[in-house]
Amino acid sequence: MSTFRYYEPESVAEVVSALKDNVNSSVIGGGSDLLSEIKNGTTKPNVLLGLSRIDDLKRITATDTEVRIGSMVTINAVSSDPVIKRDYGALSEASAGLATPQIRNVGTLGGNLNQRPRCWYYRNPLIDCLKKGGTKCYALGGHTKYLCVTEGERCYIVHPSDTAVALSLFSAEIEIASAGDIRRIPIGSFFVSPSENILRETILGPDEFVTAVYLPSHAPESRHMSKYIKARERQSGDFALVSVGISLKVSSGTIQACNICFGGIAPTPYRSIQMEKYLVNRSVENLDVSYAAGLAISDPKPFPDNEYKVTLATNLVKKALSDLICDL
Ligand SMILES: Cc1cc2nc3c(=O)[nH]c(=O)nc-3n(C[C@H](O)[C@H](O)[C@H](O)COP(=O)(O)OP(=O)(O)OC[C@H]3O[C@@H](n4cnc5c(N)ncnc54)[C@H](O)[C@@H]3O)c2cc1C
Ligand code: SF4
Repeated sequence: MSTFRYYEPESVAEVVSALKDNVNSSVIGGGSDLLSEIKNGTTKPNVLLGLSRIDDLKRITATDTEVRIGSMVTINAVSSDPVIKRDYGALSEASAGLATPQIRNVGTLGGNLNQRPRCWYYRNPLIDCLKKGGTKCYALGGHTKYLCVTEGERCYIVHPSDTAVALSLFSAEIEIASAGDIRRIPIGSFFVSPSENILRETILGPDEFVTAVYLPSHAPESRHMSKYIKARERQSGDFALVSVGISLKVSSGTIQACNICFGGIAPTPYRSIQMEKYLVNRSVENLDVSYAAGLAISDPKPFPDNEYKVTLATNLVKKALSDLICDL
């Protein structure tokens, strides 16, 4: 394991300045992903900046207009927060079902959104694939069962974070701190695909980090109902083969608004815009759920041994949509 210096800044400004001054530095949340990367040699930072002394990053606060979740709030705290359970059910479900109880206790929302890909070849310290600045994608012609089925280009990772998929349903914004600046961007602009930057999965620059996630509050009459389900090989401690989140607003039997997002099928959370368009303004009474589910992925390009993901995505979305309609 490579050696590193560790210290805990006391303010956001101090973190940003330390990231700027130390070229090869990383922030660390619960360490459940970063420390295993360091142990297996996938990454070798010289300096780790612990965020646990900055109280503002560890709180969930709600106003009339928005809910703010600090980036150091644990996954467990996200899943059990009463406001999140009531108003953003899919986020609570996604958090409650990810990884293991131990990881949910230490893992943070910021770390979950910024965790690195799980591709076996990327995680192998002996392999320098394109994502690590090498010249070749070793997954091509190798083990392709867990790769993406759409939007891959040169690199075929799938997006691993359950919370990112759920947050994409609720117009979440990510707050980013950089030198002299705090800005917010929509979650849809936070993640980047391999065609935009093969070396990174987010737009964060080297001296930037995530301070919080914001969700818009809704009056009771305009709240969305939502659901998150995922298929995995083991029932605990396993990433999604495919996951889907749906949020719906139904009024007088008609779908007024609908957001659908998948994990496990593309390098970033995959919004199913074509299916959302089909569902909005339709009556739930005679909805053709099977037809709608067939629109899940607009242009699937599976490998021979992951075609199952296309079927799985269709079936998961059928179930989630039917469950939500039954609950009306
Ligand atoms: C066995 C196992 C099963 C798992 N299953 C799932 C699963 O089903 N679903 C799922 O979503 N995840 C799963 N995970 C991943 C797990 O949820 C993450 O490891 C965890 O959420 C990361 O949080 P952390 O605070 O420990 O991050 P850390 O390990 O501290 O950091 C992870 C990465 O994020 C960066 N980072 C941390 N905080 C910030 C910040 N505020 N701003 C910018 N960058 C930051 C770090 O530099 C590092 O690169 C699993 C992990 C394991 C080991
Ligand atoms: S899919 Fe991406 S991360 Fe995996 S081997 Fe290919 S280039 Fe590397």
